[in-house]
Formats: sequence, structure tokens, C-alpha cells
Amino acid sequence: MNRVYNFSAGPSMLPESVLLRAAAEMLDYEGSGQSVMEMSHRSKVYDAIIKGAESLLREVMEIPDNYKVLFLQGGASSQFAMVPLNLMTKNRKADYVLSGQFSTKAYKEAARFGDCKVVASSKEQNFSRIPDLDPKEFRPDADYFHICMNNTIYGTVFHALPETGDVPLVADISSCILSRPIDVSRFGVLYAGAQKNVAPAGLTIVIIREDLIGEPQEKTPTMFMYKTHAESDSMYNTPPCYSIYMCKLVLEWLKNEVGGLKAMEKRNVEKAALLYDFLDRSKLFKGCAEKESRSIMNVTFVTGDKDLDAKFVQEAAAAGFVNLKGHRSVGGMRASIYNAMPREGVEKLVQFMENFEKENA
Ligand code: PMP
Repeated sequence: MNRVYNFSAGPSMLPESVLLRAAAEMLDYEGSGQSVMEMSHRSKVYDAIIKGAESLLREVMEIPDNYKVLFLQGGASSQFAMVPLNLMTKNRKADYVLSGQFSTKAYKEAARFGDCKVVASSKEQNFSRIPDLDPKEFRPDADYFHICMNNTIYGTVFHALPETGDVPLVADISSCILSRPIDVSRFGVLYAGAQKNVAPAGLTIVIIREDLIGEPQEKTPTMFMYKTHAESDSMYNTPPCYSIYMCKLVLEWLKNEVGGLKAMEKRNVEKAALLYDFLDRSKLFKGCAEKESRSIMNVTFVTGDKDLDAKFVQEAAAAGFVNLKGHRSVGGMRASIYNAMPREGVEKLVQFMENFEKENA
């Protein structure tokens, strides 16, 4: 077996021990005589899986009791609509920070349902940084304030959260969920597609403060109401059963093998430093994100020469470092180094980059 180091932005690597356990449990899950893929979501054996996943997520992320955890489908992209439909109900106003493509998509979707204001944007800087925020721009009567915490395409992250007072802060944490501890109580809603740090694609996690689960805008489809899923413990319809099971295994790995989110953060910070330190001393490669906005999950870089970028991506893939091509909209390279990327993978990538630099100087 020849497994590669997969630097994909998502779906991405899963911990090897998790994959091995899933393989071992594939045909007969805990003596049930069936795979988790085959079992009824209403069965007793599955009930323990979904409840186990939720309680582990609550424990690992230290989610306060007044927050609901929802296991949904539709990807983070569905949340771009679900958030306004459910939260933009009092004054029909919301504030958005544009820090990349996904926050722009979220803003455009929300603008279909109410009065949305862009309070800051780094579009002019090609999203190479988190924009400066001027609290005077924030509207105190907004129903919520939206950010995309980690910008997957550009490799930037909010290192400090905006102070929004009583206005609930809503964050897309698709590409940084479980990468380090966060204070959930600072947020009204957190949402994430699971396919980067949590599970295979198909599962969307929403963590929502209970008082925000109210009456949605009229004509909101039943499946798009938070209350539908909150009232039925994510069992209104068939949930993404297998992804939730994988989420449980990943959380067990995170808790028992890694040692929780503080330990995870330490690993992630060290892995990212290996790459950023190299980029800062390299004469060939250059990091794209401004230093103070750098993400520890997605590291973007270029050589400055498109042909050389393509050569690098191709030679890296041949050497077992796959999916290093940057997002189709920005080009260059991107190394996504999510939780399951071992330190060794980053060390070897840096060695490979050093050699490439020597050979192409
Ligand atoms: N937000 C962010 C930060 C993302 O990285 C992505 C996907 N890469 C999305 C939203 C869209 O997620 P999905 O594909 O789950 O709809």
C-alpha cells in the first residue's frame, strides 16, 4: 500500500487509525451483523452513535449547555441561506465581513433575504489579509454579524474576533473547526462542512445558541428551519449516518490519541511554522497571505512564475505530495495541513521544496 500525503483543501486526509477502525468495523459493527452504512437511523445501535458523536463534540469543544448541536446536510453552502432565513427576522438586517470567496457567497445569498451591509472587505488586497474592522461601521440593530473565520482559498484567519456587543456573531468555521480551542460562548451560531477536519463529506455541523432558534422568515422550507432539526435532535429525516459515525471516530482520536484541542493546536501551530519558516527564508517560494493574517490550516504560496508553479505541482504529485495546486480562482500553490496531516508529511514537503529550489535556482 502506498498512501500519499494529501494536501487537498477538502475532502482531505483522515487519521489513519480512524480509517483502520472504520475498515475493521465495516462488515459487522459491534456485533450487530451489519455495517453502519446499512443500519436504520432509528435503531438503538445507531442512536448510541449519533448521541456519542454529539456528546464527544460537546466535550472536546466545551460547548455550553445553552447551545444546540445539529447534524445537518447541504454543506456549509446551505448555511449561507439558513442563517439569514432563521436569524434575519427582527430587523431584517445583517452585517458581513468579506474576507474571501465563501464570505462573499454567504453575503450574496443573505442579501436575497434582507438588508445586508458589507462592513469591511479585503477584496482590493486580493483577500491576502483579514480586513481592518471599524466598529463604527457595525450596525447595533443588525440581527447578526457574519464572518468566515478561516479563509480556505487564501490561507487567512481571524486571529481576533470582532466585538459585536449584543449582536450575535455568526461564523463559518468549515476550515478551522477542531483545529484549536475556541470560546463557543462568543458566538450565536457556528457552522462547518465536516469534510476538512471532522469526517467525510455529507455532514454539516451547526452549533447554535438556543435563544436564536426562533420563528424563521415566512415560507422558509421546513428542512431549512433550525427549529425543525433542533426539536427532533437532528432526526427529522435521515441524517448523514455514516459521516456522523466517522465524526465520532475522529473525535475519539482527537480526545484519546491527540489529547484534546490544546494539544491539537500545538501540533497544528508547529506544522504551520515548519512551512512558514521555510517560505520566509526561501529565495524561490513566497507566502501569499500577509503575516498577521496567516492561517495554520491552509498555507498559500507561489514561485512568481506560473510555469514553475505548474512544474512544482506536477513533480510534487509524482513524489507523493498530492493536491498542492492552488484554488482555480487564484492559482499558485496551497498546502492544506488539517488535523490529520502528520507532522512528517509537512517535514517531507519542506525537504522536497528545498530540493526543488536548489534544482530550479
Ligand atoms: N466555507 C468555507 C470556509 C469553505 O472552505 C467551504 C468549502 N471549501 C465552504 C464554505 C463551502 O462548503 P460546502 O462545500 O460544504 O458547501
